[in-house]
Amino acid sequence: MANRTETRTERAHRTIHAGGEWLAASSGATREILDPADALPFTVVAEGDEKDTDLAVAAARRAFDAGEWPHTPVAGRAALLRRVAELLVRDREELGLLESRDAGKTVEEGRVDIDCVADAFRYFADLVAGEAPGRVVDAGSPEVHSVVVHEPVGVCAMITPWNYPLLQASWKVAPALAAGNTFVIKPSEITPLTTIALIDLLVEAGLPTGVANIVTGPGHTVGARLAEHPDVDLVSFTGGLTSGTKVAQAAAVTVKKVALELGGKNPNVVFADACETEEGFDTAVDQALNAAFIHSGQVCSAGGRLIVEESVRERFVAELARRAQKIRLGRGTEDGVECGPLVSAQQRAKTEDYVASALAEGAELRCGGKRPEPSPQRPESGYFYEPTVLDHCHREMRVVREEVFGPVLTVETFRTEDEAVALANDTEYGLAGAVWTADAGRARRVAGRLRHGTVWINDFHPYLPQAEWGGFGKSGVGRELGPAGLAEYRESKHVYQNLAPKPVRWFAG
Ligand code: NAD
Repeated sequence: MANRTETRTERAHRTIHAGGEWLAASSGATREILDPADALPFTVVAEGDEKDTDLAVAAARRAFDAGEWPHTPVAGRAALLRRVAELLVRDREELGLLESRDAGKTVEEGRVDIDCVADAFRYFADLVAGEAPGRVVDAGSPEVHSVVVHEPVGVCAMITPWNYPLLQASWKVAPALAAGNTFVIKPSEITPLTTIALIDLLVEAGLPTGVANIVTGPGHTVGARLAEHPDVDLVSFTGGLTSGTKVAQAAAVTVKKVALELGGKNPNVVFADACETEEGFDTAVDQALNAAFIHSGQVCSAGGRLIVEESVRERFVAELARRAQKIRLGRGTEDGVECGPLVSAQQRAKTEDYVASALAEGAELRCGGKRPEPSPQRPESGYFYEPTVLDHCHREMRVVREEVFGPVLTVETFRTEDEAVALANDTEYGLAGAVWTADAGRARRVAGRLRHGTVWINDFHPYLPQAEWGGFGKSGVGRELGPAGLAEYRESKHVYQNLAPKPVRWFAG
């Protein structure tokens, strides 16, 4: 570990990895990485551009077209992924801390992220190792042998966001490698550090040169070039709707495969019967708090829309607001802190704008709605914002329709099951949603009617690497995780072998 840290320090702003070499940006440009807790720079990375991107794509292309990785037996690929998981466990503390400083989350959240990253590598290792190499198809004749096999897609471009930097990267890197692809990844320009560290671990685990490449830099140059690049076969993007749409448009020109994991506006539906016992009430409130405010609401599946049955609204919202005010905000590395800052000044300004618009449109502020008082754990220069509960919200409000990506919870109410379902589905997104009820029949009925890629019953936020993750509607195209998350990185090939060839005589002459 000590050696690797030294290497990283010496490497400084040479954070572009192409063809096995760590490089500075060809333009010499660099970017300071800020700690969101105090807005001070704590490291510097290369600010790559289109030229650096072309270099990395060329390396990935060579490694795919002439390299050994696409032809490495599946057992070898699975073994490498398992080694990466072991290295992640070894470096858990360092990587968790790095994620905390980079993205502003608490160190404990950072550690949990790294555990989930290791899980993703293990899951895809097991999935490919346990698979049949292909599927024999009945061609209707004993003289034909017909088989469908999977092959890697080729060079994959991966573009990732800042909220779960390494976790989102791992949902792409692990299946892409398991399937035998090579790749170029572009992490968010504001949180690239753990993705850079992952490249180190892949090299240490023995991945052949040129298979894993990274270009640090902005979306409008590096990301845009990856999406349009003629030598890229697939682009997998996680991020916002606006950038995702641009990626899909750019990718269409070269007809590359596209996977999009976009935003969400996720309903958390609470029926009164879930709150009949004290324990039920406490659990539903506690989880509503978690749904909306973990990582300051900067979660694609954040339960930012509470849809609660009218008869329990007042009690529920009062308790929620009471507890939200007690959330301990501060620098993610400080002991006792429960929630970190927002990731950037821009993200906080966006949150403030949504709250202002909601209040102007008639929402009632139950708590938050402002920056907290500075404290030793919470420097004034940090991007902190108080957990905010907005009551009496409705569909016409921008804050209810659009993704805030900050610590803001809106409250809407319903009287009937049909009304609850209609409200929960009344969004252009469709990433995730939850239903809280003590009635098992209602739970299944409502879950069946929700148009969202993940539905939780009496829970919020858990996901499983073996279950597909992705969205309906404008939450995206394709799926990550699960068997479908591996299939994204594969082409199917039908090999039809005639065992007794003879002329067909379609043409008489
Ligand atoms: P973003 O769209 O601003 O940026 C995401 C990535 O795209 C970054 O690496 C960025 O540099 C790059 N990018 C920006 N413009 C680009 C362009 N024109 N071409 C190519 N790349 C470009 O998103 P963000 O602010 O980093 O992340 C927050 C968003 O991500 C939210 O909308 C959130 O819901 C979404 N998200 C979705 C999931 C999911 O699983 N569905 C998971 C995490 C985050």
